[in-house]
Amino acid sequence: MIQITALPAFSDNYIWLLQDPARQRCAAVDPGDSAPVLAWLAAHPDWLLTDILVTHHHQDHTGGVLELKARTGARVLGPALEAIPGRDVALEDGQRINVLGLEWQVLHVPGHTAGHVALFTEGVGQPVLLCGDTLFAAGCGRLFEGTAAQMHASLQRLASLPGPTRVYCTHEYTLANLRFALAVEPDNQALQQRQREAAALRERNLPTLPSTLSLELATNPFLRANEPAVRKSCAEHAGSAPTTAETAFAALRAWKDNFR
Ligand code: ZN
Ligand code: FE
Repeated sequence: MIQITALPAFSDNYIWLLQDPARQRCAAVDPGDSAPVLAWLAAHPDWLLTDILVTHHHQDHTGGVLELKARTGARVLGPALEAIPGRDVALEDGQRINVLGLEWQVLHVPGHTAGHVALFTEGVGQPVLLCGDTLFAAGCGRLFEGTAAQMHASLQRLASLPGPTRVYCTHEYTLANLRFALAVEPDNQALQQRQREAAALRERNLPTLPSTLSLELATNPFLRANEPAVRKSCAEHAGSAPTTAETAFAALRAWKDNFR
């Protein structure tokens, strides 16, 4: 069984530290800064950082990779289709890798960036998804290098994973995402409840993550483009009714890009 801890970085990033307590080995996910990981390792001198997992090439996910690799000798795994500093293992869609004794499946999920990957493991009775800047709690990443169609397909792929899957994304964007989600679906009770719970967590400066896939399916507008209420809001906002889930998704993403 692995434990997962959030190491806060910058203003709203989390570097997820995956820990195998039995063997005192750990892996860092998207270390945009080496300092929080090095501080954790200094406080836990018997532990070894064995792996650095990278979902995409953006600086806030890769800035600490080379320093961590130089200090620890950790192996760097990152998307095959992107330039990742210090990469040892190029991750391709469908590939299976072993990290901390667990088998992880690589999913190519383009949209935010062209080569973005997510990692999924069944774990030991506790499925885990590391999804970088693709699926966020109540939101999704911006389209920097991909199309709405690509991002929609990527999110649909993630949505088909088991409902209990714990969703570890990189940013604490949840409250802002929920504000938009409530503008789209003001009458969604699961969403209203989630907003109250997330606000209470943030008041205590606690992470709103991980989420679960079933919670996302109930509250994340970007996974709900087929819901009549979401379609209706898109139609009212855009002035024309989307005809497919993909066009509804594109309308939602464009709406959110300009939502304040
Ligand atoms: Zn990014
Ligand atoms: Fe990011």
